[in-house]
Amino acid sequence: MLRRIIILVTLVLIGTVVYLNHAPKGQIGPLLLSGSTMGTTYHLKVFVPPESKLNTDEISKQVSASLDKIDRLMSTYKEDSEVSRFNALPSNQWLPISEPTYHVINAAVRYSAMSDGAFDITVGKLVNLWGFGPTINVNAIPDAKNIDRLRNKIGYTKLQMRPDPMEILKESDAIYIDLSAIAKGYAVDAVAAVLEQNALHNYMVEIGGEIRTSGHKQTGQPWSIGIESPVTDQRSVQKVLHLQQSAMATSGDYRNYFEHNGQRFSHTIDPRTGYPITHKLASVTVLAETCMDADALATLLTVLGPESGMEFAEKNNLAVFMIIKTNDGFTEKSSTSFTPFLKQ
Ligand code: FAD
Repeated sequence: MLRRIIILVTLVLIGTVVYLNHAPKGQIGPLLLSGSTMGTTYHLKVFVPPESKLNTDEISKQVSASLDKIDRLMSTYKEDSEVSRFNALPSNQWLPISEPTYHVINAAVRYSAMSDGAFDITVGKLVNLWGFGPTINVNAIPDAKNIDRLRNKIGYTKLQMRPDPMEILKESDAIYIDLSAIAKGYAVDAVAAVLEQNALHNYMVEIGGEIRTSGHKQTGQPWSIGIESPVTDQRSVQKVLHLQQSAMATSGDYRNYFEHNGQRFSHTIDPRTGYPITHKLASVTVLAETCMDADALATLLTVLGPESGMEFAEKNNLAVFMIIKTNDGFTEKSSTSFTPFLKQ
């Protein structure tokens, strides 16, 4: 079985600066910050007004503190995170959780209800069974009986939440929450909030391919952001968008997958079958107000597939761009709300 876990980043014109960098004194230049977080990388490009008395080291500290906090709360790769403590808890016990974790889980449950369970953060044990979680297993395809057993025991309707105090409870021991499809988007929004609190309103924030832009580049132009072509062994751009106030997330089956007997098994699991998606949708890009919403919707639509996904997008007026596999390459499909972005 060929296991190829390729994490490519959907970026154009941003470069890969690997440290805090800003233009030499006196020259107006963007503030560039980057580093690693949540098993991936982050990059910021911020237009700093010339009169600003900004302490860039201070900004860098606030950004990494914000990312570390989310990692400590929501990671399934840290045993002592809030989510891991919940995952280790037996069923029918309330666990008090923090406001950020409550906010993300609440949003996730809302997307589960909207998609009739296609998006479902309780899919974590199936994700791990297929080898895409913290404990990468290199075994072959999991046993069908195991898949079925787990599938019947998970589901967002087996989660209970209380708002005051903020608490959460699982009705089944098989519930294991995995926030990988929504928490990175939330982290992008949290970093954008740090910049806004420092009166910085022209920026591009990217974490593992999830992006949020505000205002314009140093040159006064909108931010040029690329949608990656869903090809596995090379980095190329399918389309460039010019964004101002927007968040963008892309999900696909070409970055994190393995192949077995010539069939590709992606890390996006359909909770209704317990198996990775099998349709021909190679990548879905969503533009939304917040990156948390864009992130969750990109996975939700990836599970729904090209037809039902586009129906869902039109019904909910979502700006969606799909790249679909054909016998000799790819074809593109975009929703009505996405069309203005193609005209730029
Ligand atoms: P997306 O395409 O956005 O979502 C796919 C992911 O969502 C899958 O990988 C699966 O986890 C989950 N999923 C699958 N099907 C569904 C479904 N139907 N509904 C809901 N969710 C589904 N990775 C590391 O290697 N090391 C780390 O230390 C690490 N720490 C992390 C900490 C945090 C807080 C988070 C949120 C993630 C962390 N990760 C880590 C995972 C990594 O950052 C990515 O989340 C992962 O690789 C998937 O990113 P993606 O954008 O490709 O996923």
